[in-house]
Amino acid sequence: MRRISVFGATGSIGVNTLDLIARRPDAFDVVALSGGRNVALLAELAIRHRAEIAVTAFEECLPNLRDALSGTGIETAAGSDAVTEAAGRPADWTMSAIVGAAGLPPGLKALEQGGTLALANKESLVCAGPLMLETARRHGSTILPVDSEHSAVFQALLGEDIAKVERVIITASGGAFRDWSIERMARATPEEAASHPNWDMGQRITIDSASMFNKALELIETHEYFGITPDRIEALFHPESMIHAMVGFCDGGLMAHIGPADMRHAIGFALNHPHREPLPVERLDFAKLGQFTFRAPDEVKYPALRLAREVMQAGGHNGAVFNAAKEAALDAFIDRRIGFPQMAEAVEKVLVKLSSSHLGKGAMTLDTVLDADARARVAAAEIIAAL
Ligand code: NDP
Ligand code: MG
Repeated sequence: MRRISVFGATGSIGVNTLDLIARRPDAFDVVALSGGRNVALLAELAIRHRAEIAVTAFEECLPNLRDALSGTGIETAAGSDAVTEAAGRPADWTMSAIVGAAGLPPGLKALEQGGTLALANKESLVCAGPLMLETARRHGSTILPVDSEHSAVFQALLGEDIAKVERVIITASGGAFRDWSIERMARATPEEAASHPNWDMGQRITIDSASMFNKALELIETHEYFGITPDRIEALFHPESMIHAMVGFCDGGLMAHIGPADMRHAIGFALNHPHREPLPVERLDFAKLGQFTFRAPDEVKYPALRLAREVMQAGGHNGAVFNAAKEAALDAFIDRRIGFPQMAEAVEKVLVKLSSSHLGKGAMTLDTVLDADARARVAAAEIIAAL
C-alpha cells in the first residue's frame, strides 16, 4: 500500500487525483487531505477515502469541519501552519494542488520527508525553483511535474540526454480570448475570462489562461524544472490542445507528446510513475480530429509572455515577485477593481518598482521567498489602487 496525501484536495486537480485513487482502493492508503473553504467537500472526501486527517487552510472553517467529521475518527486541523504540518506526516506520494504561493510551504515540507511530490502547484517552481530542487536533492525526494505541458516534456525526455535538447516548445490553447481583439479584451469581465474552450480547471488558472499569465508561469516553470535556458523555450498557440509539448533535439528531430485535454493523464502518469497503468481518459481518433493547427502567440496582446522572459533573465526572487503581483492583480480583476489589461500593467509596475530594491539578492530560503512575496503584495496594492 502506498501512503498518499493530497493538498488542495477540494480543487479541480485534487478531485481528479482522488478520482484515480478511488479506482484502485487496494493500492493506496490516504494520509492527509487539505482544502480551503469547501468544508463539505473536504469532509466528504476524507470519509470516502478514510483519511487519517483533514485540514482546512482557514481557522474559521474548523467548527464546520469538526461537525462534519464528528464520530468518524478522522482528525481535523485548521490554518496554514496546520496544512504544512500535515505535509510532514510520512507519505510515499504527495499531490501539491493548492492554488497560488500558499502551496509552497507544504510542498517544501513534503519534500523534506523524502517521498515523491507530484507538483501541480506551478507557483512553487516560479517562486522558489532553486529552493525546491535543492530541498529535493538534499532529502532524496523526487519532484514529478503534473502541469500537462511539463508532464509532456518529462515524458518526451524519457531515455534522452538533456544535454542534447535544442529547444522545448510548450503549447497554449489561447484561452477564452484567443479570437478576441485587444479592444474587446479591454472590456472583458471575470465571467468571460473564466470560461475555457478546452480544459475544465479552477477559476484562477482559467483566467490566467485567458491573459496568458498561465503560459508565462509555465515558461518559468520549464526553465526552473528542466534547467533549459530561456532562449530555448518557446510558447506556441495550438487551439486543439492535443499536443501538450514538443522537445527538439540537436539532430533536428522532435518528440511531441499528444493526449486528450484531461488532467487525469498527467496526474495518473505521476501517480503510477515509473510504471504506466491504464487510465480512464479518451483515446484519440486522429481521422476524426482531421488536423492540428499552430500559430505564434501575439506578445502585444499578451504582455505576460514578455514579462516572463524578463523574469527568467533577471532570476533570483523576481519569480516570487512576479507571481505575487500576478495573484494580487488577479484578485483585483475578479473583484472588478481593475480591467483585464490592467493585470499585466500592474504586474509590470511591481517588477519595475522592486527591481532596484535589494530584495533577496542573496541565497534563497523559504523566508526570503515569503519576504519577496509579501513585499510584492504591498507594492501591488499601492499600484492597483492608483491605476
Ligand atoms: P482550484 O481553484 O480548483 O483548487 C484550489 C485548491 O486549493 C482547493 O482545494 C482550495 O480549497 C485550495 N486553496 C485555495 N486557497 C488556499 C489557501 N490560501 N491555502 C490553502 N489551500 C487553498 O485550483 P486547480 O485545481 O485548478 O489548480 C491547483 C493548482 O494546480 C494550481 O497551482 C494550478 O495552477 C495547477 N494546475 C491546475 C490545472 C488544472 O487543470 N486545474 C492544470 C495544471 C496546473 P477550497 O476550494 O476548498 O477553498
Ligand atoms: Mg499547463
